[in-house]
Parts: sequence; C-alpha cells; structure tokens
Amino acid sequence: MGRVTLGVAVGVAVVACAVAGVVVGRRVRSRRKWGRVVGVLRELEESCETTVGRLRQVVDAMAVEMHAGLASEGGSKLKMLLTFVDHLPTGSEVGTYYALDLGGTNFRVLRAELGGRRSSILSKDVELQPIPQHLMRSTSEDLFDFISSTLKQFIEKEENGSEFSSLRKRELGFTFSFPVKQISICSGILIKWTKGFAIEDMVGREVVECLRAGLIRNGLDMEVAVLVNDTVGTLALGHYHDADTVAAVIIGTGTNASYLERADAIIKCQGLLTTSGGMVVNMEWGNFWSSHLPRTSYDVELDAESPNPNDLGFEKMISGMYLGDIVRRVILRMSQESDIFGPVSSSLLVPFILHTPFVAKMHEDDSPDLQEVARILKEKLEIPEVPLKVRKLVVRICDVVTRRAARLAAAGIVGILKKIGRDGTGGINSVRGRSDMKMKRTVVAIEGALYTSYTVFREYLHEALNEILGEEIAQHVILKATEDGSGIGAALLAASHSSYSVDSVQLL
Ligand code: ADP
Ligand code: MG
Repeated sequence: MGRVTLGVAVGVAVVACAVAGVVVGRRVRSRRKWGRVVGVLRELEESCETTVGRLRQVVDAMAVEMHAGLASEGGSKLKMLLTFVDHLPTGSEVGTYYALDLGGTNFRVLRAELGGRRSSILSKDVELQPIPQHLMRSTSEDLFDFISSTLKQFIEKEENGSEFSSLRKRELGFTFSFPVKQISICSGILIKWTKGFAIEDMVGREVVECLRAGLIRNGLDMEVAVLVNDTVGTLALGHYHDADTVAAVIIGTGTNASYLERADAIIKCQGLLTTSGGMVVNMEWGNFWSSHLPRTSYDVELDAESPNPNDLGFEKMISGMYLGDIVRRVILRMSQESDIFGPVSSSLLVPFILHTPFVAKMHEDDSPDLQEVARILKEKLEIPEVPLKVRKLVVRICDVVTRRAARLAAAGIVGILKKIGRDGTGGINSVRGRSDMKMKRTVVAIEGALYTSYTVFREYLHEALNEILGEEIAQHVILKATEDGSGIGAALLAASHSSYSVDSVQLL
C-alpha cells in the first residue's frame, strides 16, 4: 500500500514537474518572442529618430538644395521648376472662371464666381469624380475625353441654359499635379507620371494641347488661361485671402511645395524678367534627398520594390500614398520574427493593402481595448484577435511612422522659410541680442488630407515647427489650411491672368 502511494506520489510529482517545465518553457519562449518583437520596435524607433538637431540639419540641407536647384538645371534632386506665375490673385478679381484639378485620387471640376473684393468668392461649386482606374493607364485621348465630357456636363448643369457672354470665351485654369516643364504660364511638357498614372503616349507632350484637343472633340470652346500644379493653386488661394502668404505645401497622396522667389535668385534663368520681380517656383520637393533623413530598412525595401527606385525619397517617407505601407512592412517583419500575430497572414504580404486612413484610424483609436485596431487588423490584414498588448504595439508603430513624417514635413517648411529669409535667423533678435528687428508675419498655405484629416499628424507637424523655430519666431509663422485651393486657386489664377483683364495687380 505504502509503496503504491509512494509510486503514485512520485508519478504525480513527475507529471507536475513536466507540466511546470512545459509552462515555464512556454513562458520563456513567449518572453523571448516578445523580446524579439520589442527589439524590432526599438530598432524602428531609433532609425526614425527626429531630434530637433537632426531636423535642423534637414532644414539646412533643404535650403542648400533649393539654392543648387535654382543655380543650374539638374543641379539638385530638387527640380525647382519655373511656373511663369509672376503675380498672384489679390482679391480684386471679378467674373466667372472654371477650373479642372487633376493630380491624385480624385478629379475635380470647379466654377468660381468672383466679386472683386478680397475674400469674396461669391460662389464656388465643386464636383468630384474618382478617376476610373483603367483611365490612369490608358491613352491621353481617353483621359481627356473623360475630363472634357465631365466638364461639359458640369457647365451645362451650372449655367442651366443661361447664356454666357458671347463677347468672351469661358476661361479655364488647369491644375495638373505631375512634374511638368513649364514653357509659359499656359503650356508645359509632361516630364513623367507619378501617383499611379502611366499613360505613356503623353510623356514628353504638351499638356494643354492634349486638353485643348479633348475640349474641341467634345464641342467645348474655352480658353485655357493657366496651367499650374496643386501647390501653385493652393498658393494662389492662400494669397487671395491673405497677402502675407509666401509658400504652399501639399501633404495628401503625394507631397510637394511651391513658394515665391525673387526672379534674380533664379540663377539658372539669367535675365529672367518679370514685371513683379518675382516668380512662383514649384519645388517638386517629394524628390528631396539628404543623408540627414532618418531612413529605415523598411524605406529601403519600399523604395527598391517601387516602380521608381531612388526617386521621390522625401515623399516616400511623408505622404499618404506610402505611410500605410511602411506600417504594413513593420507589422510583417514582426509577424515573421515571432507568432504574436499568429501565422503570417497572406494579406500582410500584399503591398499597399493597408491604406493610410486606416493607420490614422488605428492611431486615433481611443477605445480602452483598442477595438478599432482589432477590427482593422482583422478586416484589412486578416489578423484575427490579438491580445491588447499587441494592439498597443500596432498603435506605437503607427505613431513612430506618422511622427517622423510630420516632423520631416515641418523641417521642409522651415527649409523654405530659411531660403527666403523668413526663419528668423537673419531677423528677429539675432543681432547681438537686439529685439528691435521685426520678423515679418509669414503665412504658409497647406492642403491635403494628411494635414487636414489626420489630427495627430497635424499636431506633430505644429510641434516640430515650434521646436525648430523656437516659440518666439514660430508665433510669426502661420500655417493656414485651405480648401480646394488646388482647384479654386487655378480659377483665381485664370482670373488674374485673364486675357480680357487690362490691369493685373503686381505681386511684390
Ligand atoms: P490628393 O492628394 O489625392 O489630391 P487628398 O489631399 O484628399 O487628395 O489626399 C488623399 C490622401 O490622403 C489619400 O491618399 C490618403 O492616403 C490620405 N488620407 C485621406 N484621408 C486620410 C485620413 N483621415 N487620415 C490619414 N490620411 C488620409
Ligand atoms: Mg490634391
């Protein structure tokens, strides 16, 4: 009996030890796995580091590259394209103007009625159409037939049979937000497509000619008064409302900036004469590059697998088209290093499956158990039920990627301000501590859903701007979100460059 009891007791002890061993082993393994994931996160945090010191290096690099791009053609990765816009709308424009805005996810047709006093856009109508996917890779005829017929229907609806003055043609501003080598204010050659467009027969062709042909094919007799890109349109709307507006930045699907430059600083165009002495320069800043940019292995992979490697390096760290995919790549790495997300989901392997608005939704999920994160992981990435600590990890990834993007955008903005002497370094308080030199009020117009719809992104950008400039100078720099500037601005520029207007008010 005693022997049996002893045997059972020993047996129980052995089983218990074995179970404990398994449990401990599992715990150790799970702790090790968690450790590996935390290691991936730490590495991400370190390589995305944007201390104010580093941001200032980016600021300087941006200003230096701007100089180089203005000095000679091909002198910098920044193309610093001339726009031939030498004066901006002032608020005195009168009449009805149309605009087309093509350059991203959506295509917009607009009509603005201008009343002649500043801030008096009497009415504006905007119609938005997603660009059918197949047209993005079709022919220029197909694309401009779609655009022209949409415009025609819009005009018919807007004017509702009423007669447009027969003395003058309707005038149109065309916002075409792709790299264009401008020939005049109303003509330019398409250098290349970006943002998913690939209509080969248009590369190297004059854009307004393609549009005009489409208008004629569709029975529309209109004057294309200006060809601009979205940043120039945004600058125009900003300036229409506030004469202190000196630059415009877009942070949406892509990112870009334009600003007012002195004509004599555009050295690559010696003898450039403008009546105002200034010209708007389209930076194409998405292509900015500097060794000071904090780059991760995810950026390197994203770039290498993209259709345009070594191109748009700045944009690939900042804009809406890419942030989601950086986050996806980090989650994929973690998922491959451990099984905290379960078996590697096949969706996680699909490039661009996680769109940036979902990053924003997960980042801004304020439910205590992060339900939105769980839902998006499940629905978009086919990662079912993960524990709360893993969801928190995902939020942290979104935070790191978004914060870096917003802070780099802020550094870019300060780079422009530095180039035009509006960053306070040559002005306010700098002369032997004197505080009598006034920093001019400086407005930067901003557009794009990343800035306007992603609150945390916007807050990070403002925070970085304050850090780089310092509170005192930063209070003179105002970022103003504009709405439909990329389109309405083109209508305003059509007005201020109208072939019928006699007196155009000069800029500088
Ligand atoms: P576009 O740049 O195409 O002219 P938008 O300025 O509206 O148009 O920007 C659209 C881009 O912004 C989308 O590609 C998407 O990546 C991003 N985006 C849209 N909404 C949000 C959001 N709520 N949060 C974060 N990003 C967003
Ligand atoms: Mg846009």
